[in-house]
Amino acid sequence: MIDLTTLTIEKAHTDLSSGAYTVRELCEAYLAVITEKDSEIHAYLEVYDDVLVQAEAAQKRFADGTATLLTGIPLAIKDNMLIEGKRVSAASKMLEGYVASYTATAPKRLLEANAVFLGRTNMDEFAMGSSTENSAFGVTKNPHDLSRVAGGTSGGSAAAVAANMALGALGSDTGGSVRQPAAFCGVVGLKPSYGGVSRHGLIADTSSFDQIGPIAKNVRDVEILFECIQGRDPMDVTSEGVRELAGEAPDMKRVIGVPRSYLTGDGVDPELLANFNAVLDRLRNEGHTIVDVEIPLLEYALAVYYILQPAEVSSNLSRFDGIRYGLSVKSEALYDVYAKSRRQGFGAETRRRILLGTYILSHGHYDAYYRKADALRAEIGKAFAKVFDRTAGGVDAIMLPTTPNPAFKIGEKTKDPVSMYLEDIFTVPLNIAGVAGISVPSGKTKDGLPLGIQVVAGKRDDLRLLQIGKELERVVQ
Ligand code: GLN
Repeated sequence: MIDLTTLTIEKAHTDLSSGAYTVRELCEAYLAVITEKDSEIHAYLEVYDDVLVQAEAAQKRFADGTATLLTGIPLAIKDNMLIEGKRVSAASKMLEGYVASYTATAPKRLLEANAVFLGRTNMDEFAMGSSTENSAFGVTKNPHDLSRVAGGTSGGSAAAVAANMALGALGSDTGGSVRQPAAFCGVVGLKPSYGGVSRHGLIADTSSFDQIGPIAKNVRDVEILFECIQGRDPMDVTSEGVRELAGEAPDMKRVIGVPRSYLTGDGVDPELLANFNAVLDRLRNEGHTIVDVEIPLLEYALAVYYILQPAEVSSNLSRFDGIRYGLSVKSEALYDVYAKSRRQGFGAETRRRILLGTYILSHGHYDAYYRKADALRAEIGKAFAKVFDRTAGGVDAIMLPTTPNPAFKIGEKTKDPVSMYLEDIFTVPLNIAGVAGISVPSGKTKDGLPLGIQVVAGKRDDLRLLQIGKELERVVQ
């Protein structure tokens, strides 16, 4: 028996290299857990039928000596990244049964290493939501408590990793969708700096915020996945990769900023805040310096996000017209094809965002909403850059809780979109500023629900972020 609960990518690689087990046996171990648990958790929308074929191809690379760290590693992929010949739906009826005609850059790089994709995971439709309840194909449950959400929108990917139904996974993060489900499920999730990873072949939500990011059980595994997928890609002009880490020893003492005034709202769970403060104390005891920082305009981040995000998504989703892709409802008049296809194809939250975004971008409202929010986006970006400016006494990283509360009950927030949006209060500022963030498990509540702390580093400083993430992980354990 392979012990999946303690398995890491490096351990699996060592075992596969020494022949302790084969890639096929490793994949079969994961498939067995999926068979056992996923009818209840519902992390996967589809388990691929060619997993063992992929495993055989990977095995050959161990035989011919060309295996890399990721060869034969069983992964899950969120249902919004394209793999040629495989179905991809963004968890929407609009794209049900759609088959991808090319492979997105991030999974392509993993496939070049012969990592194995076990299947595609559930998500909120078109990556809008905070709980995976907006999927057209049912909710994903939290493996730690089946009455609770796994988080969103990469809920399926986080739940798959947490329940040992994959060793790692890809998610995407527009306003928190890798970090928040990682925190709710007790795993690690990285949102790279904007431009860290190519978006080519990622179904667009908000193009100026979207980033693909890895989810795994520890920071080192996330780092291995990130190193494979990151970097410039000629197919995405916004991709620029990350900065090298020069002369920063792993045991270096760090200066950590805490945006204290942003954390004191009454919406923050007291037990979660106590956990956060206790971890800061431990970091202090390890010799790191913890200072309060002010990030001006942070209090507007959520409002800015919920103007810019609907605006962009309303434009991005206009391609789903019943003509070009996916669902097409037949009708006499062309306009009715558009209207009926979109009405039937999109779920309630997606339609709400399209309506909001169309309003925001319309003549007479554009200046009042979009232009102002866009100006604030630039200011928030500058405020973050200043906090991280080390030539002016800036900090190495910022820490704050990933979420204001642990995983909530299924159905608890579905009737109240604003309370759902408030879930994103600590995660969206990073996407607005384009900076990097990672959620690292920081313990559990007395009821056994996972908690997460988010580390934030400056734009393109993802490698430093990962190093500080490892230190946080070490201190928490
Ligand atoms: N919860 C946020 C939203 O609904 C973020 C989603 C995401 O990161 N994809 O837009």
